[in-house]
Amino acid sequence: MRLGGKRVVVTAAGQGIGRASALACAREGATVIATDINAEALASLPQESGDRIETRILDVTDADAITAFAGEIGAIDGLFNCAGFVHGGTILDCSDKDWDFSFDLNVKAMFRMNKAFLPAMLERAADKGSVSILNMASMASSIKGFPNRMAYGATKAAVIGLTKSIAADFVKQGVRCNALCPGTVDTPSLRGRIDSSPDPVQAEKDFIARQPMGRLATVDDITPLVVYLLSDESRFVSGQAVLVDGGVTI
Ligand code: NAD
Repeated sequence: MRLGGKRVVVTAAGQGIGRASALACAREGATVIATDINAEALASLPQESGDRIETRILDVTDADAITAFAGEIGAIDGLFNCAGFVHGGTILDCSDKDWDFSFDLNVKAMFRMNKAFLPAMLERAADKGSVSILNMASMASSIKGFPNRMAYGATKAAVIGLTKSIAADFVKQGVRCNALCPGTVDTPSLRGRIDSSPDPVQAEKDFIARQPMGRLATVDDITPLVVYLLSDESRFVSGQAVLVDGGVTI
């Protein structure tokens, strides 16, 4: 079991990449604490995982809730900060409110989660040698610009900067910190973006057209990398923005 004996926290585990990652970590032997703002979305996870997954409601934009949650959970070996939101549009379409919402959810929440869990993770690393933080970024970030992803790209670039800084500060104390940078993944929120566009059929074709491999990713294309980066197999990997994008950034 690649994550045997490890305790892992996942945010935004109700659907999409977070949910699939929580289940994949549980299959690889981890005890998983799966969190989301949506209780209903979490409800079936314990049963689906053969009781390897516990669930908690956590709104990652709520600073007090994060402090209370980190205090309750204590030491963990792996933290996957998956929560994030896609604002669509150019800079001309982005209000101050849109910008602030994107940064609150995609970056400030991650800063708070990393900060809240680091003290106990440092203690765990001192005991066990190594712990791993994985922060969700995107290929749409400092790595590559995409049309109509201005606020999103800016937040995900910030995630990469945050990740590299944490990696640099704690590398000697056994804390690894990496950013995951997927291409376009077929998840409920992507379906929502396609369905709410003026021409959904064309919108889906456009998403696929930018993928050199000719298809969208499924969550199962992403979870093996999540497991790898949370496991000791990646013990020599830190501070990296790891792409899994079907060749978009070749
Ligand atoms: P999704 O957007 O379909 O689901 C997101 C989940 O986050 C939902 O279960 C929702 O309830 C939860 N959530 C929303 N607000 C929350 C909050 N304040 N606190 C806690 N949970 C909250 O999932 P997805 O498409 O797999 O995206 C997950 C992450 O992956 C995001 O950070 C996204 O930016 C990133 N990402 C997605 C893609 C893609 O194409 N889907 C590509 C690259 C990166």
